[in-house]
Amino acid sequence: MENIPVTNGYCPHCGKKISGYNQSSRDFGTPVRYCKHCQKPYLDTRYIELAVEGYNPNYLTTKMGIRILLIGIIGTVLAGGINLLNYYNGYYSLRAVLCSVLGLILIIIGIVDIIRVKTGLKAKSLEKKRTESVQRLQDRAYALTLKNCGYNVPQEYLE
Ligand SMILES: [Zn+2]
Repeated sequence: MENIPVTNGYCPHCGKKISGYNQSSRDFGTPVRYCKHCQKPYLDTRYIELAVEGYNPNYLTTKMGIRILLIGIIGTVLAGGINLLNYYNGYYSLRAVLCSVLGLILIIIGIVDIIRVKTGLKAKSLEKKRTESVQRLQDRAYALTLKNCGYNVPQEYLE
């Protein structure tokens, strides 16, 4: 199979924008995606093929959750203080209000993440995604495609 071109937010074949593309987002799944407009394959490196690329060792610890929680608390307290100050001065800043809402959302995300780590739900979900990844790689043509794209595919999937 020929090499698959990498996307930068636009389809490398027809140039149409990939809907909802966010450069900094990451998810587990196959990086081989198909354009909704021209149906041709492109490589989206935001998707991590678990059985090939592995995962960040911090993913299953509470480290990330605690960090998100702390950022949320600091953001909420700072923005909350500014809101209060504005309130007493008789005006109001939409940006500061949005910052406190964002802070609260981060607090919730952090707490949910810590709970999912502690209860083992996150490990369970990761294991399910790893199994799906292994199933994809057992298709030798798929494993070879990834290898041709420069992925370090374990030998067992290439034989
Ligand atoms: Zn396309």
